[in-house]
Amino acid sequence: MLRSKTILSLFLSFLFSCLTLFGQEEQKAFAISDVPNVQLNDSTRFVTDPAHYLNASEIRDLDKTLLDLRHRYNVDFAIVLLPNIKDNSLEDFTYELFKAWGLGQKGKDTGLLLLVLPERRKLRFETGYGLEGIIPDALLGQVIRNDIAPHFREKNIALGLEQSIKRIAQRLKKNQAELLNGAKGRPHQQGVRSKQIPSSAFFYFYSFFVLLIYVSLLFNLYIGKRTIKKQGEARQRLPEVKAGLIVGPLISILLLIPFFGIIFTLKLNDEDYAIAMVLLAVFALYFIALFLLTRSYQQYIQKLASHCPNCGKSSLEVKPNFKSKLSPQQSLEFQIKAKTFTYFHCAHCSYEEVVAHIVKPSKYTLCPECQTLAVAPIARRSIVYQGVSYLRTEYKCLYCRNNSSKDERNKREEAENLAQGLLLGALLGSGMGRRGGGFSGGGFSGGSWGGGMSGGGGASGSW
Ligand SMILES: [Zn+2]
Ligand SMILES: [Zn+2]
Repeated sequence: MLRSKTILSLFLSFLFSCLTLFGQEEQKAFAISDVPNVQLNDSTRFVTDPAHYLNASEIRDLDKTLLDLRHRYNVDFAIVLLPNIKDNSLEDFTYELFKAWGLGQKGKDTGLLLLVLPERRKLRFETGYGLEGIIPDALLGQVIRNDIAPHFREKNIALGLEQSIKRIAQRLKKNQAELLNGAKGRPHQQGVRSKQIPSSAFFYFYSFFVLLIYVSLLFNLYIGKRTIKKQGEARQRLPEVKAGLIVGPLISILLLIPFFGIIFTLKLNDEDYAIAMVLLAVFALYFIALFLLTRSYQQYIQKLASHCPNCGKSSLEVKPNFKSKLSPQQSLEFQIKAKTFTYFHCAHCSYEEVVAHIVKPSKYTLCPECQTLAVAPIARRSIVYQGVSYLRTEYKCLYCRNNSSKDERNKREEAENLAQGLLLGALLGSGMGRRGGGFSGGGFSGGSWGGGMSGGGGASGSW
């Protein structure tokens, strides 16, 4: 009997000391860094309750509801219950905690934090930038008065929290489309910087670039036509000009694709959009001008090239069977792609002319022995003469087999060494810089949630 009494008293004192310890834990004042971030261990959890104001099943239910909120509306709503906080005011503490955890979806800042201090009968909501327009402070005030305070007064914390989530979810539902398409909160500096200005600037930059190319193409057509005055020259440049007259319009059309892409994908404001329409009208005029200039150039060079130097009639025609008209040297030049040829034949007097066009760029040079454009570099090696490094290139004429060589100071080797050094330096430099920026940019400070911008908006209350 006595023994059982002793055991009972020992047990009771143990229980008492446990309760005292528990009580101390309950009274603990938390600093920001002390608050356990449940999201770090389990990304499906939202409720932090180190002092156990809620039981396990209540926490599970709340977490489930809050996870559902994230899936439906892209909103991260974290609830923290603490016995006490260190030093800071409740407002400062929630603001700092919100920032430290980086609450909300990245780039959207659609985070919501509710901090409850049951011992002090105080609570505060902190809203992210992305939610300020949707969940104004006045609404949160109503939620505190009508949905939370009555239940908290009856010591039913879980029900108060549940009701507040329900009320907030109703508001999110009304703005679901906005939330899913990228939340727009109150305009703030970060949003202005990252969204509106770059798209607009990019639009103007690209439009200016297109206009510049268009003007230079028109100018080229205008100047190009003026540089060709002689009939021989027209025949000489005929293939090159014809190709150019196709490339110009092709480039012009291709440049329009990104332009339309920008108009349709970037959200331009009304003013930019109006300017885009004006630009489209300008581009339409450009294409008319391009068509007319191209056609007149085409007709001009055609007329000039077809003028027969023998009979004076415009009856020279380009014939396809030029290969049979080539000399052995020309055949080789054609084979090695050093030159192309056009064969002109007069339908009136049978005058014929084979015009050679030098292919550029080309590795071939003119042979001093046989005058064929067929001298190719066949070997290149470094030689050292009197302590100086030279690069010797050996050449051979593919027509007459004449050999020659040329020595150059090996500046390339020196330059390459220097360039490698510079490049390595630049790469290392930029790599280090980038890494440095990553660490100092604060990207890792919150980590688990992704957002974290709060403008200090929110609502406080007590019960
Ligand atoms: Zn003729
Ligand atoms: Zn030769």
